Amino acid sequence: MTNRIVVLGGGTGGTLAANRLRRDLGDEVVITVVDQDDDHLYQPGLLFVPFGLSRPQDLVRSRPAQLHDGITYRTADIERVDLGAEQVLLSDGVTLAYDVLVVATGARLLPEETEGLTGPGARETVHTFYDLDGATALEGALSRFTGGRLVVNVVDMPIKCPVAPLEFCFLADWYFTERGIREQVELIYVTPLDAAFTKPVAARTLSGLLAEKHVELVTEFNTGEVDGTGGRLVGYDGREVPFDLAVVVPLHGGAAYVDRSPGLGDEFGFVPTDKHTLQSTAAPNVFVIGDAAAIPTSKAGSVTHFEGETIARNVVRFLAGEALDASFDGHTNCFIESGFGKAMLIDFNYDTEPLPGHYPSGVGLPLLSPSRLNHLGKLMFAWFYWHSLLPGRDVPGLTAAMPTAGKHMPVPTRS
Ligand SMILES: Cc1cc2nc3c(=O)[nH]c(=O)nc-3n(C[C@H](O)[C@H](O)[C@H](O)COP(=O)(O)OP(=O)(O)OC[C@H]3O[C@@H](n4cnc5c(N)ncnc54)[C@H](O)[C@@H]3O)c2cc1C
Repeated sequence: MTNRIVVLGGGTGGTLAANRLRRDLGDEVVITVVDQDDDHLYQPGLLFVPFGLSRPQDLVRSRPAQLHDGITYRTADIERVDLGAEQVLLSDGVTLAYDVLVVATGARLLPEETEGLTGPGARETVHTFYDLDGATALEGALSRFTGGRLVVNVVDMPIKCPVAPLEFCFLADWYFTERGIREQVELIYVTPLDAAFTKPVAARTLSGLLAEKHVELVTEFNTGEVDGTGGRLVGYDGREVPFDLAVVVPLHGGAAYVDRSPGLGDEFGFVPTDKHTLQSTAAPNVFVIGDAAAIPTSKAGSVTHFEGETIARNVVRFLAGEALDASFDGHTNCFIESGFGKAMLIDFNYDTEPLPGHYPSGVGLPLLSPSRLNHLGKLMFAWFYWHSLLPGRDVPGLTAAMPTAGKHMPVPTRS
């Protein structure tokens, strides 16, 4: 009998997983991908839209056009998953039975969970760049901004691409300098973390860069309310941060159908998953890729890309009744745009924090230091995304396992 693979979500992870599985299994399986719309958005490009560096229409392409021939694409809202019956129910009444389910429905923005965030002032004094409409509206707001306090706020973790709000600060410093009004603008970065970033070595470098660019850092701030008309963030501890323009990254959660699917997700709508095999803990024939997984990685396209190798291998092994590969190491690789045509690069995994050196070997891109080469790498990533990452190609030198060559590894201390 031909096995049926249903892939939930036709974004980064769903597309590349389906394409890899089609290549590896051919007509041995029937692959169906489901997504709620037909527009595949290149999300890393959202960062550039507010600064006029990317055009919204250039970031969106047809979802089905990214899938290899032989994969079926369905546009529908996922209603729920019935793990016992091994079926997915769609909002149009269709039921899809599966032998293997791949969950790739990403993370959802939940602005309504924060008091005031969708209330008076939204899209006037309070903006986001985390979706296409928001990034487009923010371009207008930034161009009209002539001075005052611009506050960039992360409501809570986890968020997609945790360096993106920092990149926004660095680009804002460049943007207002170019417009000749940097002296009139105060930039403030407000984070729930106790530092600029989660990993100590990178946090030190990024805090240094914020200070160098005169961006004030406010830490351990848990936003309870965004008061758009009064122009202030109010923390749960009573602290207030005034603003003239706020750029807020809302709370994130998993896809809504996860809550309606008994046994599938956790209380945040993410799916508990083995961090090395990417098999869900809900059922052995359910695998998870990308932001939907409750595993201790960054929610990033690079992670999703590296996971692709493991998930495809493990679906093949599962169908063959073989032991799963437990080699996914949490590899994460992020360019951090630092303004003025430069970017930094960080590379890390579950066990190794971002370190200085070069990637992927001693003669590669500089790590943890702003460079023109990294900026060009960040710009080239868009081409790589559409032409290599989504089609599920293996790229020499860009492997799932984090490389250690070229990194300045810490010297073990003697006890
Ligand atoms: C501003 C911003 C900047 C970023 N910058 C970078 C970067 O520089 N580098 C990097 O590596 N990553 C970056 N990312 C993160 C990256 O885009 C995501 O981590 C990646 O897209 C995750 O892939 P995914 O498949 O898990 O989720 P997605 O690509 O978001 O796909 C999830 C899909 O599931 C669908 N879906 C959800 N619920 C349902 C439902 N009920 N029914 C039907 N379909 C549903 C959605 O429509 C969506 O297409 C950035 C993200 C943002 C927002």
